[in-house]
Amino acid sequence: MTQIFTPPETRIAIVTGGARGIGAAIATRLAEDGHDVAILDLDREQCADSIRAVEATGRRGMAVSADVSDEDAVRRAVAQVADTFGPPTVLVNNAGVLRDASLSKMTVRDWDFVLDVNLRSAFLMSREMEPHFRATRWGRVVNLSSIAALGVFGEANYAAAKAGVQGFTKSLAIELGRFGVTANVVAPGFVITEMTREVARRVNMSIEDMTKEMMVNNWVGRAGIPEDIANAVGFFADVRSAFVTGQVLYVAGGPRG
Ligand code: NAD
Repeated sequence: MTQIFTPPETRIAIVTGGARGIGAAIATRLAEDGHDVAILDLDREQCADSIRAVEATGRRGMAVSADVSDEDAVRRAVAQVADTFGPPTVLVNNAGVLRDASLSKMTVRDWDFVLDVNLRSAFLMSREMEPHFRATRWGRVVNLSSIAALGVFGEANYAAAKAGVQGFTKSLAIELGRFGVTANVVAPGFVITEMTREVARRVNMSIEDMTKEMMVNNWVGRAGIPEDIANAVGFFADVRSAFVTGQVLYVAGGPRG
């Protein structure tokens, strides 16, 4: 039996962590591709530039303050988007944090915080979106992992979370395919954003020196920019990508995985 799933006339996307960096580029890209975009971030005031960029494309933008690792906050935020814009059917779980430490120095707090923001949030957000996916019989989930999923010194918490994102997403693909929903992963390599600048500052290195250090297995000879990652997200979110699901795409200037 061939099932054809028709996208809704208005595609409404939610991007978590879209106040800056990769999430901001994803929000703009999805707007350019015809989505209205809601950004969920810790402080909606910080999303002003991202919303301006979305609205400059002619699409609607809205910002909602939410800690996406908090169950009640996620419930309220998704309901607010649905009430304001209509049912959201594209979800990009992009919010992420680091709390690096080698194993002996890693606290339970470091572990839980990183797992909660990078992985638990993807579960909470996806679960909250599911009724909209079912009702619309169409949807796209794109989750942000990392090359760190393959293992990194001092990032056991982050590596576990980002590897978890991959297993979680493949399971979503299996569960939700029958409702016309695809679920895929974009796993970036080194991208210069506030996240990586903070790491450079912490280890007392310039971002230029850190970039040189990160060029191992990178054959294009440069660091990534947020738009490189947004481009991959745009592909998975596209209406025409209906036959691509459960995939992990490393966007890292070289082959990984
Ligand atoms: P960033 O730190 O610049 O931006 C992260 C955004 O997430 C911020 O706006 C922050 O306020 C928001 N955020 C953090 N905790 C949140 C929470 N609990 N609820 C809601 N929002 C929250 O990071 P980035 O470099 O743009 O990274 C974006 C994603 O890409 C992350 O998932 C990150 O792990 C992943 N990633 C980044 C790189 C890189 O090199 N920059 C590489 C691989 C993967």
